[in-house]
Amino acid sequence: AAPLGLSGAARAAELRAEVTARVAESAAAGVTVRLAVVVATEDESTAWYVRSIARAAGRTGIACDTVTLPPDATADLLRARLAELSADPAVHGVILQTPLPPGVAAADVAAAIAPDKDVDGANPLSLGRLAAGLPAFAPATAEAVVQLLDAHGVPLAGRTVAVVGRSTVVGKPLAHLLLDRDATVTVCHSRTAELASVTRQSELVVAAAGRPGLITAAHLAPGAVVVDVGTNPTPDGGLTGDVDAESVRSRAGALSPVPGGVGPITTALLLRHTVQAAGAAAATGAARPA
Ligand code: NAD
Repeated sequence: AAPLGLSGAARAAELRAEVTARVAESAAAGVTVRLAVVVATEDESTAWYVRSIARAAGRTGIACDTVTLPPDATADLLRARLAELSADPAVHGVILQTPLPPGVAAADVAAAIAPDKDVDGANPLSLGRLAAGLPAFAPATAEAVVQLLDAHGVPLAGRTVAVVGRSTVVGKPLAHLLLDRDATVTVCHSRTAELASVTRQSELVVAAAGRPGLITAAHLAPGAVVVDVGTNPTPDGGLTGDVDAESVRSRAGALSPVPGGVGPITTALLLRHTVQAAGAAAATGAARPA
């Protein structure tokens, strides 16, 4: 039997509607909600992704500025630009797009993003706060996985989840978000011995490795719920996930599609975080004497 498709479309639409309403409230109060996306790469798939953020922002009424730096920008230049945007009261959210110029570490420069504008949870302080159970913006992709599962009524408490990938943007923050929901989490990575035997023990598998076709039927317990975070470019200009959808079809209980699963929710959450940041800034500003 074909597994149930865990589409992200409906939840993403719900989030966009919520954001649109809140942006309109801000506009009525005289505030233009603004997101800045810093790009320092000529990578075509990054450019495509940034355009899709700008388009989605535009549809909700959020102003989106793409700040383009040269592909050989230094860490100092990136930090200076991020600090400047963080200090600009007209900007509510700041995103640093990867890949970065060779030799520049994302976590290092992302420390220059003010935590209250860090709408993609890139500042190491945000990850630390998340891990400590303090309020922080989670990386949108990690949060999108939980939102997708919630939207489809997949319970998390007490269930075993294998997260495949331990990156700072997806695997690690997702492990914390799942622990907060009382899941029993195993984090796998490129040096995990016998990946299939680990993932086969899990009721849910989240694939976030950036390796097309990594997860096959052999990796799954019968009926496992599979979330595919991978967005790997295909030669024909499309996208493919980390899951071999054909292979897992008869074994998985549910599978999220690529594209159309985690991705649309991720973009919508970036916008939701931005409007939340704008709301928090307005509340602080209102409390401050003129
Ligand atoms: P990354 O390269 O930073 O990390 C990949 C992780 O996968 C590493 O921790 C590595 O140890 C692990 N890994 C690699 N090969 C493996 C293997 N054979 N077995 C087990 N683990 C392995 O990548 P990332 O930034 O975390 O992104 C992961 C994927 O998610 C990519 O395809 C990326 O394009 C995608 N992504 C999607 C969204 C979205 O919105 N849908 C957002 C961010 C990233």
